[in-house]
Amino acid sequence: MHEQNPAFHPETLAIIAGRPARDVDEPLNVPLTLASTYVAGGEREYGRYANPSWTAFEDALGALEGGRCLSFASGLAAISAVLDLVEPGGVVVAPRRSYTGTVLQLDDRAREGRLSVVYVDIADTAAVAEASVGAAMVWIESPTNPALELADIPAISEAAHAAGAIVVVDNTFATPVLQRPLELGADISVHSATKYIAGHSDVLLGAVITATDAHHDAVLGRRSLYGAIPSPLEAFLALRGLRTLSVRLERAQASAQELVRRLADHPQLDEVRYPGFGAIISIVVKGGADAADALVPRTSLWLHATSLGGVESTFERRRRWAAEHETIPEGLVRLSVGLEHVDDLYDDLAAALG
Ligand SMILES: *Cc1c(COP(=O)(O)O)cnc(C)c1O
Repeated sequence: MHEQNPAFHPETLAIIAGRPARDVDEPLNVPLTLASTYVAGGEREYGRYANPSWTAFEDALGALEGGRCLSFASGLAAISAVLDLVEPGGVVVAPRRSYTGTVLQLDDRAREGRLSVVYVDIADTAAVAEASVGAAMVWIESPTNPALELADIPAISEAAHAAGAIVVVDNTFATPVLQRPLELGADISVHSATKYIAGHSDVLLGAVITATDAHHDAVLGRRSLYGAIPSPLEAFLALRGLRTLSVRLERAQASAQELVRRLADHPQLDEVRYPGFGAIISIVVKGGADAADALVPRTSLWLHATSLGGVESTFERRRRWAAEHETIPEGLVRLSVGLEHVDDLYDDLAAALG
């Protein structure tokens, strides 16, 4: 692999990291490698242990996040591998409102007696610090999905470390362009690369970025043994997406900020939630579930679909999912702002809102 200068800006790292050596006749990109096994005696050996297309993606995302990256079959596979770091009986502190899959995994493990969970308001730093005493792991999601609350990652990391807990941040919503958890004091950053990193609604992929070799080795050991490996094609496509992440996010964020300004006093909305950065907005439609359900089929541009972070703008009423937290308003519709022109996005939404 080509060695890069870690002092480069993230925009530059996203372009140059994960490239082959600059030798004559080498391709500029690491080619897609489909291989179940390798000629013996080297470092790869078998397709469950290593793949050059994974490594190229991992080198690039690791450079951006400032740690060592491992890719997984999905975001939830990555999250599961990290939760496996908690010793039996350990306590995990987690946001009461966060990605439903994370909460369901924690509840499932708690039900099986493998760990116990203390749910907190992740925006209440003092409460998180208090809960972290005696905990093995503090799980942060910031901004949270879909409430868009923010956690003070440096303050929580300091308190958690003082209490002997490790700190994990689900960085899916912010991406390493806007937030680098390891620089802020966290031990591990996790991603659903399915979202902004891959960015085109055609890939499922997860990633774990670790600050220490011990955590890297432990997570790699889980992946190699339990087999939640990504497909080489998915890693290849996600790296292609990562190359344009900063420009995509810049545009999507600028459009999101403009939409927030235009929607601020909209008479059909009870609330417009936006954490100030990123491209996810949660609006609360007046009239609850019925009004929100009536909104979604009325657009011609915004697509009614779960997931987020693609080039195409999508939206959905989150409480249509039974697992969504009961404190999320029935009329909350999460908007994932894509790359269409902001006037077209606004006009389509405004027409649907009436
Ligand atoms: C989608 C998502 C996940 C799960 O990722 P998958 O790739 O769907 O398994 C985890 N965390 C957050 C914040 C997400 O949005």
